[in-house]
Amino acid sequence: MDYESMFRKAFKPRSAFSLVVRVTILIQILFACLFFFSSPPHTTRYVILAFDDSGQDNQGDESARIMGEYGYKGVAFLVVEWADKSSPVWSSLVERGWELGSHTWSHKNVSHLSTEMLYHEILDSRNWIEQTFNVTVISFAYPYSKGSDNQTVIRVLAEAGYLYARESMRRIEWEGARSFQIGSCPIKHDDYETQIAKVIDDSRKKGIAVAMFHRVNSDLEGWGSLTPQEFRYCLEQIRRNNLEVITFKDLEKPD
Ligand SMILES: [Zn+2]
Repeated sequence: MDYESMFRKAFKPRSAFSLVVRVTILIQILFACLFFFSSPPHTTRYVILAFDDSGQDNQGDESARIMGEYGYKGVAFLVVEWADKSSPVWSSLVERGWELGSHTWSHKNVSHLSTEMLYHEILDSRNWIEQTFNVTVISFAYPYSKGSDNQTVIRVLAEAGYLYARESMRRIEWEGARSFQIGSCPIKHDDYETQIAKVIDDSRKKGIAVAMFHRVNSDLEGWGSLTPQEFRYCLEQIRRNNLEVITFKDLEKPD
């Protein structure tokens, strides 16, 4: 091949067909870039914020107030015997979209109770909360994180009408289906940073996670308390990681 024909080949005007193919590919690349940068791949991740031992001395006040600043709602697990019957806190939580669950009648370890006592702790507490606050109770929290491996307890929970029951000691794989063995991360003053990191990690891996709190107060009174500052840190992490805060009841709603 001489130089002249090589030159001609190299500078041959492109055919209309080849031009169309090139332009189409270019447009496709542009759209791919646009899609990639405008909407990064994202799947909604959920978190449920549960508050145990609710009912004592209006303890829901401070946590609910701070949650309100973030527009979050939680699940308050009430112990009937400890509940201040005259307090407006619980009705106001319900008005704000919070869910009320049962944490038994008198905070007993349900794994060692007679069947009669089980019905009292599990069914009577549910009925009391439903009638007092005019709500439907579908969630239960095991006191001392005991009883989730006891078949009699699970049968009574099902008969009583619960759909979800949560413990806090084991980290159980849970992906949001109805279950009486839902694990959760207890968030306490001494290890709240690592525990909230676990919640976020679980939520990323399984799509949903449960964080378990107790009181929020500056004097750190009571088991598992957090200061308002520490509690805010946890909520900040949840917001920064774009987790959607829901309740067990939300899992029952169609999409
Ligand atoms: Zn408790």
